[in-house]
Amino acid sequence: MTDDDLQRMRTLLADELATLTETLEASLESAKGTALDQARIGRLSRMDALQSQAMAQGANRRLAEEIAAIRAALERIERGTYGICAGCDREIDLMRLEVYPATERCLPCAKRRE
Ligand SMILES: [Zn+2]
Repeated sequence: MTDDDLQRMRTLLADELATLTETLEASLESAKGTALDQARIGRLSRMDALQSQAMAQGANRRLAEEIAAIRAALERIERGTYGICAGCDREIDLMRLEVYPATERCLPCAKRRE
């Protein structure tokens, strides 16, 4: 991977980190609003409210995981180990990194873990 590639991936990761952090914060804010609304809703819609709350929590958990993965990828860039597979120590295909910039495994290694 060239320095240009590395810079590009760093920008991509930083942009994605900013977007995901904003999304998560907005979602956590709106969750507070939902909790207040629940005092006003009836018994029947309570099931719906609980269900959508559980879905929102699942989505937030995935967001938090993605944010952690991106932070780890940015740290690997700083340490100079970005793009090296954590499974086999070989270089991860640049095309794969462009699709999944935060990945720490090459495709064969990622498949083995599934
Ligand atoms: Zn690998």
